Amino acid sequence: MSLPSIASLISARRAQYDAVVIGAGPNGLAAAITLARAGRSVVVYEAAATVGGGTRTKELTLPGFAHDVCSAVHPLGIGSPFFLTLPLGEYGLEWIQPDSPLAHPLPDGAAVLLERSVAATAAGLDAADRAAYIALMAPLAADWPTLAAAFLGPLRPGMIAAGAQHPLMMARFGLRAIRSARNVAERLFRGERARALFAGMSAHSMLPLEQAPSAAFGLVLGASGHALGWPIPRGGSQRIADALAAYLRALGGEIVTDTPIRSLAELPPARAILCDVTPRQLLALAGDRLPEGYRRRLMRFRYGPGAYKIDLALDGPIPWAAPGAERAGTVHVGGPLAEVAAAERAVGRGEAPTAPFVLVAQQSRFDASRAPAGQHTVWAYCHVPNGYSDDGVMATRIEAQIERFAPGFRDRILARHIMPPAALERYNANYVGGDINGGLQDFAQLFTRPTVQFNPYATPNPGLYLCSSSTPPGGGVHGMCGYFAAQAALRGALAR
Ligand SMILES: Cc1cc2nc3c(=O)[nH]c(=O)nc-3n(C[C@H](O)[C@H](O)[C@H](O)COP(=O)(O)OP(=O)(O)OC[C@H]3O[C@@H](n4cnc5c(N)ncnc54)[C@H](O)[C@@H]3O)c2cc1C
Repeated sequence: MSLPSIASLISARRAQYDAVVIGAGPNGLAAAITLARAGRSVVVYEAAATVGGGTRTKELTLPGFAHDVCSAVHPLGIGSPFFLTLPLGEYGLEWIQPDSPLAHPLPDGAAVLLERSVAATAAGLDAADRAAYIALMAPLAADWPTLAAAFLGPLRPGMIAAGAQHPLMMARFGLRAIRSARNVAERLFRGERARALFAGMSAHSMLPLEQAPSAAFGLVLGASGHALGWPIPRGGSQRIADALAAYLRALGGEIVTDTPIRSLAELPPARAILCDVTPRQLLALAGDRLPEGYRRRLMRFRYGPGAYKIDLALDGPIPWAAPGAERAGTVHVGGPLAEVAAAERAVGRGEAPTAPFVLVAQQSRFDASRAPAGQHTVWAYCHVPNGYSDDGVMATRIEAQIERFAPGFRDRILARHIMPPAALERYNANYVGGDINGGLQDFAQLFTRPTVQFNPYATPNPGLYLCSSSTPPGGGVHGMCGYFAAQAALRGALAR
């Protein structure tokens, strides 16, 4: 069946929708739910056979091994101010809290652990850094709702409001967040343990650690670990998408899968169209409906480094050398700050790191549904230059890094599945060149995505909105971009 005829079948069932959403990622689904809750009729078109975008779980290696294809660990999901308003538990979403959010093994054979308790985390650091760690993290963790409102809110207004309500905490946070991770780590901490811990969390920015605002990511991820934990969904990240989709259907929303939209002309009539895509795809879908100036600004949108992902089936758990690493859901593999920084600097220069910084999740240790009894899944990725390709070189380097901190690990591999940047982009068109955040998250583009404009969700075409992670607050499974885009549509094209 051709694509336009699918669309016309749907539109025959209902002559016109209030809104059409392109893309059933967490932001597309969040947008659709927001509209349906406001009483608007909405249909979501998804290119793939299943909903979820970056939140899907599949048997990528062997039968019985459930691998998170993209997202795995969800501090921003459990803490999302929007998700908190949804009855997702009633639709099958159950969070599992690993014993400790994060471990960061070091070459001396010990691991630094990010524990839920700030004091317990500090106790595992070098004595000289304990007080500094508590002074840094305790106020942020204690005031997490304010920080979340600022960081996951409509960034600029959210920051201003949070700053007005909690001036001291936000000023302290802001003064550090605008710096580079290396600057914050080296000024605040003397010992390798605290520096490595902060470096690993900050590397989630996918920026060189010498570049601002990489420290912001370390601060927010650290505080979220203390305040909320870094949970995984029982059964896999697919459960987040399935719960969002089931709730949307319960509200009367419709979802059509297996339907890649190539032009807005394929869509049924609607007063608003919300696109869970990145600027490059928006140009392809709707370029002819956008003025030249806006098109040029979208063309200047910058994508970030790529991810290089591997999933493994093991015949036992990862045999970490460092005691305690088995207690963590996430393990940062890359050694001391200097090594993590070197890996991320190489990516920033456009080179593939020889010793990459590897983000590992070991979900099956805490969720027996992920693998057959006694066997385990491994989820791992590292950062590479955008569009990087090879013949499995980085997969070997990722495995070598894990082996370095877990001797005997390689002998436990039963099967592997590799996704370099091109495979990620084939899997989900939003991962342009392997960029998993919908665009570079440097200083300028974190606050002004997709372009510099008052309402980042609206386009100059009335009724056309962008709702993906290419809008504030950016990457991660939190649905806030979709929620804010839908709010913009409700104030705009869908106002009654
Ligand atoms: C390897 C990897 C690891 C990650 N780890 C984490 C993590 O642990 N925690 C976390 O919070 N985040 C993580 N992320 C990031 C997270 O997955 C994304 O930030 C999030 O999914 C973005 O949501 P979105 O709705 O904006 O876009 P997406 O989830 O990318 O969804 C976009 C959807 O739109 C569909 N689509 C695109 N174009 C069209 C079209 N023309 N027609 C129809 N449908 C279309 C796509 O098929 C897709 O389903 C990870 C991502 C990757 C790849």
